[in-house]
Amino acid sequence: MMAFTYDALPGRVVFGKGAVGRLPSEVAGLGIERLLIISDAQAKTVGDSIVGALGYRCAGRFTEVRQHVPEALASQARALARDVGADAVLTVGGGSTTGLGKAVVVECGVPLLAVPTTYAGSEMTPIYGITGVHKVTGRDLRALPRVVIYDPELTVSLPPEVSGPSGFNALAHCVEALYTPATNPVIGLMAEDGIRSLARALPVVVDDPADVSARTEALYGAYLAGAALAVAGTALHHKMCHVLGGTFGLVHGDVNAVLLPHVVAFNLAAVPDVIARVAAALGRGNVPHEAPAALADLAARIGAPTSLAAIGMPADGLDEAAERAAAETGWSNPRPVDVAVLRQLLQAAYEGAIQSLR
Ligand code: NAD
Repeated sequence: MMAFTYDALPGRVVFGKGAVGRLPSEVAGLGIERLLIISDAQAKTVGDSIVGALGYRCAGRFTEVRQHVPEALASQARALARDVGADAVLTVGGGSTTGLGKAVVVECGVPLLAVPTTYAGSEMTPIYGITGVHKVTGRDLRALPRVVIYDPELTVSLPPEVSGPSGFNALAHCVEALYTPATNPVIGLMAEDGIRSLARALPVVVDDPADVSARTEALYGAYLAGAALAVAGTALHHKMCHVLGGTFGLVHGDVNAVLLPHVVAFNLAAVPDVIARVAAALGRGNVPHEAPAALADLAARIGAPTSLAAIGMPADGLDEAAERAAAETGWSNPRPVDVAVLRQLLQAAYEGAIQSLR
């Protein structure tokens, strides 16, 4: 018999081509008078036009963004928010930019608005991360954006080498949302449709980055992925990604693309029915053993990296990575882990041993 609990999250989503044009009315509707805008150099043009459209409501701008939200950078952004008397923060950019905005609003107690320009999905979650010596993540409803504006036209400038791995980050959210202890049937529907949308759209997106229809479908998949992640949380895959990204400075999307087929292969033995749903959503029938290879094939098709060695993971860091990931994964993964099995998994991912996934 079906039984579940579902803590649905609040938040308003404005989705569609040209949606960023609705930002001024969204800001005015919330009574915001002094907005701090956080955007990185890549989002400069769209940031400039937003500043122009918002007029006097734009109180300040912060343009330095780095991956994994370094603590010192978060302190600088918070100081600027206080100096300009910000009554809200708007982020325009990828997960790193959204993450910096979260680190500001959680401490400053003002609302967050987000205009995401990648497929990271952070904008749908109350999860935030800050990196001191290591990356530490927390969950706080104050980090959840009040309004999220998804405009696929803002993603056409995302180059294939970022689009593909960022899409894999979204795929990973969907996959893990199908088997975490906090999942539920509604989240399962979102996760499956997210996988279908992303798997269909990503090859087109990397072949023709300006295809707005494919961009729209990929961004929709990323939205579903973020919403699923927000409720279901994460398991082994994301713990490993955070360990590798936070400790060894690897690019988050790239780590996702490399690890996901290996983690799915590992978890297959514990939850074959769930992995069968992944395979089906990837167009490989209801055959669980097809899922790891389907993911590896998709990564290769979209030119995403397929080995940790290729993305700069130091071989002498694998032991530490296995130890840290085993310590952090806890009970959330459907198949129990220990240092030895994770070391083995990391070795296969380091070598890009995808033949073992078939
Ligand atoms: P990112 O934000 O670092 O962006 C990747 C690169 O793409 C950057 O160089 C950026 O400048 C560039 N870029 C972004 N948008 C662009 C555009 N439209 N056109 C051209 N270039 C563009 O990376 P990401 O993959 O979006 O986010 C990764 C981060 O997000 C990680 O730190 C990860 O931990 C975090 N994250 C957090 C959550 C959460 O719920 N808290 C969820 C997912 C990811």
